Amino acid sequence: MVTRAPAKADRAEPPDKADAPPRLDLDAARLPWLQEPLARTLASQRSHALLVSGLSGVGQLAFALALAKSWLCETPMDDRPQRLACGRCASCHLVDERSHPDLRLIVPEALRGDVGLDADEAGEGDGEGKSEGKSEGKSKKAKPSQEIKVDQIRAAIGFSELTAGRGRIKVLVLHPAEALNGISANALLKTLEEPPGTLRFVLSTAEPQSLLPTIRSRCQLVALPRPDPVATTAWLGEQGVDRPEVMLAASGEQPLIALAMHQAGLDAAAWLALPERVAAGDVAAFSGWGLPQLVQTLQKLCHDRLLVSVGAPPRYFAGARLAPGDVARLSAWAADLRRQARHADHPYNAGLAVEALLAQAREASAMANLNNANSRAGAASARQRPAGGPIHSRP
Ligand SMILES: [Zn+2]
Repeated sequence: MVTRAPAKADRAEPPDKADAPPRLDLDAARLPWLQEPLARTLASQRSHALLVSGLSGVGQLAFALALAKSWLCETPMDDRPQRLACGRCASCHLVDERSHPDLRLIVPEALRGDVGLDADEAGEGDGEGKSEGKSEGKSKKAKPSQEIKVDQIRAAIGFSELTAGRGRIKVLVLHPAEALNGISANALLKTLEEPPGTLRFVLSTAEPQSLLPTIRSRCQLVALPRPDPVATTAWLGEQGVDRPEVMLAASGEQPLIALAMHQAGLDAAAWLALPERVAAGDVAAFSGWGLPQLVQTLQKLCHDRLLVSVGAPPRYFAGARLAPGDVARLSAWAADLRRQARHADHPYNAGLAVEALLAQAREASAMANLNNANSRAGAASARQRPAGGPIHSRP
């Protein structure tokens, strides 16, 4: 079950580059649950600006790019079922290569590599980073920004005012729209309201309510439905995911996240063993985990233990042994985890943070352990303790 070699120390460390999961598959043609919403959106489009809202692990960015690809496709409409991109013409290839002259994909610097843009070129093509004055040759130490900065929006507006390179329309895709800071959002408003020429927008977001009302009101909202779990379970199985139903639940029914967890080396058995390893304060189990992933996983565990404590079935850890606990104590833990989540991006002293998080998890469970001491003692002797290596490097 655990295939990855243990890390150097039994503390969470940033994953090595070699451990990074493969690039996200952003080709909607390979994500079957997106086809029907895509065709429906292309048929019902009535605005130059679409706001796609949906969970990122469902494929909202793939969906946004597929819209752009369909608009830019150069195969005659009569030869394209449901107006979908043909996937074969020169324009479609350029979109896949992220080098279409009439498509600009705007993401925070931190996401560039994930979406197929050259991570080292931030500031070259999109105007970002030049004003930071931080580049020291190749060894730029500044942490990549999680925001879409105003320089990027200004560059995009400049792009939108040029004549379309292939003579058709131009498309701006912004992802995720909630990464627009206040200044960027305001800089975008005018162009969104009065786009030059044949410019179209796709904004994709997991948090439409967090956007400026003036941004939302200028867009046609496209809500991406949660895909049918039967279909996504089957799809995960085709991708080689063992016990895909467990991994789909672990991901919160977000198939792309479930696949990423699998690709990072996490399997169903390790996932289901995780509550016990947390309860045991097993720091080594989380060696190589990033802090944000650990906090998020503990949030799922806390969420499920709260459910179990009120007699409801768990959502993320269905099939795992979950001890009910004291609701007040677990609620306090949940609140602590929310606070941690806000700061989990700061990687300082990650090892100590992991220890503190697991100590906190045990503290939240202390009362449950007392209450359930007898039943747990019996259960513990009856089952094998999970192996001692790290569960995986990156959930
Ligand atoms: Zn095409």
